[in-house]
Amino acid sequence: MKTHFAPFTDLEDLEQAPCGTWLGESSELSGDWTMVDCRLCKKRKERIASAAAAEDRAIVEQMGNMATFMRAQG
Ligand SMILES: [Zn+2]
Repeated sequence: MKTHFAPFTDLEDLEQAPCGTWLGESSELSGDWTMVDCRLCKKRKERIASAAAAEDRAIVEQMGNMATFMRAQG
């Protein structure tokens, strides 16, 4: 049995792990890296983490732009 990494909270309809593996009955999902034993997921850990960080940065940037826009309007 393999445990794949999945940062999502709603796993009900998830058919494919983020690493690309199709989930079967013998697959588990966890958002906790200490529980993950899928090699593909571990290999992608860095990329997944950096993608999440990039997304965070984009959101922060967007909010910053919005604040600038609001100030300009006001
Ligand atoms: Zn996996």
